[in-house]
Amino acid sequence: MGKKTTNSLDFTSGWAYAPAPEDTKHIQLKKQYDLFIDGKFVKPTKGKYFETVNPANEEVIASVAEADENDVNKAVKAARNAYQKVWGKMPGAERGKYIYRIARLMQERARELAVIESMDGGKPIRESRDIDIPLAANHFFYYAGWADKLNYAFPNRKPKALGVAGQIIPWNFPLLMAAWKIAPALACGNTVVLKPAETTPLTALKLAEIIQESGLPEGVVNIITGAGKTGATLVNHPDINKIAFTGSTDVGKIIQKAIAGTSKKSTLELGGKAANIVFDDAPIDQAVEGIINGIFFNQGHVCCAGSRLFIQENVADMVIQKLKDRMETLIVGNPLDKNTDIGAINSKAQLNTINNYLKIGKDEGAELYQSSCSIPKKGYFCRPTLFLNTSQSHRIVQEEIFGPVLTIQTFRTVEEVIEKANNIPYGLSAGVWTDKGSKIFNLTTKLRAGVVWANTYNKFDPTSPFGGYKESGFGREGGLHGLSAYLEF
Ligand code: NAP
Ligand code: MG
Repeated sequence: MGKKTTNSLDFTSGWAYAPAPEDTKHIQLKKQYDLFIDGKFVKPTKGKYFETVNPANEEVIASVAEADENDVNKAVKAARNAYQKVWGKMPGAERGKYIYRIARLMQERARELAVIESMDGGKPIRESRDIDIPLAANHFFYYAGWADKLNYAFPNRKPKALGVAGQIIPWNFPLLMAAWKIAPALACGNTVVLKPAETTPLTALKLAEIIQESGLPEGVVNIITGAGKTGATLVNHPDINKIAFTGSTDVGKIIQKAIAGTSKKSTLELGGKAANIVFDDAPIDQAVEGIINGIFFNQGHVCCAGSRLFIQENVADMVIQKLKDRMETLIVGNPLDKNTDIGAINSKAQLNTINNYLKIGKDEGAELYQSSCSIPKKGYFCRPTLFLNTSQSHRIVQEEIFGPVLTIQTFRTVEEVIEKANNIPYGLSAGVWTDKGSKIFNLTTKLRAGVVWANTYNKFDPTSPFGGYKESGFGREGGLHGLSAYLEF
């Protein structure tokens, strides 16, 4: 047994996990990153850089270029040129080869990408290693296969590329969101300008290195870093054919207003507040694992997080007790430790937002419960949290918190839970736990959510479409639907 650390488990038997930190010596990180435009890393016009921080220890990892209007213009010009001269004309089978090559290079560098993802964004290495990076590579593999089969995917419809896509992504799945955006766009023959989130630009910049190494023609993928202003400049650029955005509903609305009246197409993947519904006939222990995974996975920084739990009243006390017991065993701490379940909150600003919601919940009269684990003194961390005695009108029930915070309500009948689950501005995802198939089918047709998981949660696959209803946005990513978002007919 190792020495007790902030990461150790304190079971009554006195057992504890020894620290199991992932090695960081194998990764290559530069002190400064430039913009990736037209196949080269170039300095930003104004010479401005911002710092990206490791949220687990508050140390600066690298400085990253801030793109201004001139840089956005250059990137869009490079993308347009590549579209007209090379990529738009290239046979699908040839495009597919490049996309495969990118996927293979991502696999080869998977370990390095996973470590950098955890350092820059705070997510546990177990997740970046086993979920984010393999899924990101799988998206490139999957869409590579479609590049020469678009006419079979959409028979008799003569699919054509749109042109240049401006793509803007959030900080919760940095490399995965880049893959969701770039892979289908390229498979369909579009070129892209991608803007990663300010707090997590590094894996997108590593992807730029991979793209350079793959020999992809210059200008097909351009990656420009910066803040929200850089994103807005990209959205408003007149030579963009499509905006693909994943992020908050507030910014999604700004984008929709900005492109109204233009010919730009758009897909918006926005916020969520999913209902996770447990019936009394559910396999309760599995459901408890699913609830834990649904809300505490990736610190609750998940648009489709199962953040509202509904438990059938007659099993509520038992489920809540089991949840509390399981929460006690969760390890909060160093994202690079392989035993860590809950890593660092992505930024100080996000931690403040979460802490503010904890206060709002208490002020609204809900009962707060947190596990008793220790958390590191340095860095941005939050204990796994439950809110009991909540009601439908509470802000903590209606608003997206984007942290490891679960609200709990009970219900008696199927009709009641459907009404409560749907009574929310969002509609991205939901979960149903029951032994009965007929109950599942009844709910999947009535829940207004893009994805409904049954007896599981947070499962992703490149072949299945993902996207929202209502204020969770429109358009789908993944699968054939994800292709059609980058084509016109
Ligand atoms: P955000 O603040 O909306 O930012 C998303 C991206 O947009 C970032 O790259 C951001 O740049 C940029 N941006 C900010 N203001 C902009 C503007 N006026 N015009 C154009 N771009 C702008 O969201 P976030 O806080 O990063 O991410 C969390 C949100 O994303 C949550 O609401 C979550 O539910 C949602 N999300 C949805 C999905 C889905 O598939 N539906 C998936 C993941 C996340 P900066 O980083 O520099 O601010
Ligand atoms: Mg960072």
